[in-house]
Amino acid sequence: MNPLQDFPLQRLQQCLSPHLWQILTTASHHATEQGWNLYLVGGVVRDILLATPGTLLSIVDVDLVVDRDRDDWDASSEAAANAGVKLAQELQRSYPEARLQIHRKFQTADLSWQESSEFGPLLIDLATARAESYPYPAANPTVVASSIEQDLHRRDFTINAMAICLTSDRAGALLDLFDGQRDLRSRQLRILHPNSFIDDPTRMYRAVRFAVRLGFQLESQTERHLREAIDSGIYEQVKREHSKVPALQTRLKGELKYVLETPTWKSALKRLQDWGALQCIHPSLTLHRSLPAMAVVDRLLKRAASHPEPPKFLQLLGPRWQVLLEILLAQLGDRAAPIATDLQLPSDSIQRLHHLAQDQAELATYLATAHQPSQIFIALNRHDPATLVLLAATSPRPDRHSIWRYLTVLVEVKSPLDGTDLRRLGYKPGQQFRQILEALLGATLDGVINTPAEAKAFLDRHYL
Ligand code: ATP
Ligand code: MG
Repeated sequence: MNPLQDFPLQRLQQCLSPHLWQILTTASHHATEQGWNLYLVGGVVRDILLATPGTLLSIVDVDLVVDRDRDDWDASSEAAANAGVKLAQELQRSYPEARLQIHRKFQTADLSWQESSEFGPLLIDLATARAESYPYPAANPTVVASSIEQDLHRRDFTINAMAICLTSDRAGALLDLFDGQRDLRSRQLRILHPNSFIDDPTRMYRAVRFAVRLGFQLESQTERHLREAIDSGIYEQVKREHSKVPALQTRLKGELKYVLETPTWKSALKRLQDWGALQCIHPSLTLHRSLPAMAVVDRLLKRAASHPEPPKFLQLLGPRWQVLLEILLAQLGDRAAPIATDLQLPSDSIQRLHHLAQDQAELATYLATAHQPSQIFIALNRHDPATLVLLAATSPRPDRHSIWRYLTVLVEVKSPLDGTDLRRLGYKPGQQFRQILEALLGATLDGVINTPAEAKAFLDRHYL
């Protein structure tokens, strides 16, 4: 295989919007002025090669890498490390409406255009070509400025490790060191080296993203390396030995969020379970205990999204990915809150999971003697909806049904007379007033009263 092949620039241009093409042309111009090479890398190259020639792609994130011909590029110099950032600054001068963010720690920068701008939504990530090494498994890598070839070596899968040069007489050259084109044709996800998953277990979660989205399979050796990495117990070991393991904590949360935000989250999780990759979260995590409740919540949230007046409790829940993740973790009992802490979930999530066992025990006691809808209402009304969703996910069947019934039906029930009606009837606000309102609601829930006339008769019977 020749790693350097021609990719017609015209075909590239046809796939990109005129705006994006203009930005890339401007960036190439600035890079050439500095004597640098500029490359389009990663997902965009993959998607362009996958597309039927002539198809216009809707691209919202682009990765660009800068390097220089090796003999006059002192990769260890400050200037080399800053090349990506400097190019981003130059580019922003040409597009002042773009927002520039510089990530000094990683020596990368990005430019973003809002959806409302004529170029947006668009995110362009610029970095100097770099080589990576991992101080220990699942750590944040140490990076040093390097060549485009080294930069491609640090990537996740062969299909994401190709680059198209945009500058100099090599403009249009496709750099494909690992035969990513073969894997695109055979629809396979192949890692670049046997240690890939050990270095960075989030790659398992990235694999599922592409497997589900593109309909690709894990190449057989890659799957073997994945299973070996899990079976080796290395992740448990690094968690014990290091206080920070980003690829099993914050970065893993990022990938989980991505998976749970997609419509195909269920098949993605099933695939992760088949590969054994859920063990990166916790060795005893399985889907069968959580999936039914996750599916119920997902259905309710989907229905609510198209409903003019969605059930109130759904509006009080956090974002869908977070609700689903909490349900998934809830099965782990007292290990759930420490894992949520590791993943840096919001503090209310962590607290909910922390108190879940106690809430479960209390709820079981209350519900054991609650038979009427009004009694179920009183038992459940003390909890916030997000806790109730977790309790529904982890309770045995009769209690689970009571909770769903409470959330979807009982909380929506209204008494035929409200506070204004009571005041009009001469009742004075105060403690008894509140008790009367509760009694009216209880009687409505139990079907004792249905109409204002029946409610008035109820008041006459009990509160005259
Ligand atoms: P998408 O279309 O979902 O954006 P993508 O391949 O562009 O897919 P990004 O998350 O945007 O994915 O990352 C851009 C590129 O950075 C990838 O194509 C890959 O080359 C590289 N990359 C991202 N994350 C990793 C990782 N954890 N390990 C190695 N390379 C990575
Ligand atoms: Mg991308």
